[in-house]
Amino acid sequence: MKLSAPAPTSGAATLVMRGNRKFNTQPERRLRSYLHRQGFRFRVHFEVRANGVRVRPDIVFPRSRLAVMVDGCFWHACPAHGTRPTSNREYWNLKLARNLARDRRVDTALNEEGWFVLRIWEHIAIEEAGSMVRSALDMKGLVRTDVR
Ligand SMILES: [Zn+2]
Repeated sequence: MKLSAPAPTSGAATLVMRGNRKFNTQPERRLRSYLHRQGFRFRVHFEVRANGVRVRPDIVFPRSRLAVMVDGCFWHACPAHGTRPTSNREYWNLKLARNLARDRRVDTALNEEGWFVLRIWEHIAIEEAGSMVRSALDMKGLVRTDVR
């Protein structure tokens, strides 16, 4: 079933819907430039194919098989800030449930092919996000292949 977006009923909903940009969201760009300044070298929106799933994670360390996704609090239903619009409730519940199901499908497919998927909420402080990436690379024991 195809979901078509209902017309926004308030200014807030309009803003939220405009925020549905797949690529280059502000938190994503912020994390990339922070990591770059820290000396990390990575690919941006590099296509990863695994078990029938094709995905372009926000930040990819191909040799380490680390995929980093910056998840928006609204679109990925963050437990702290994942508010739901009160109008068109049925549409949003279904839409967000599908987003979450897709996230899990992507994670599983990538894990099955040796990838580690690091999901970072957009609300996470930049320094903390940076150390999460460093820890993930350390954990894979491949930090030197992708970091200068
Ligand atoms: Zn959040």
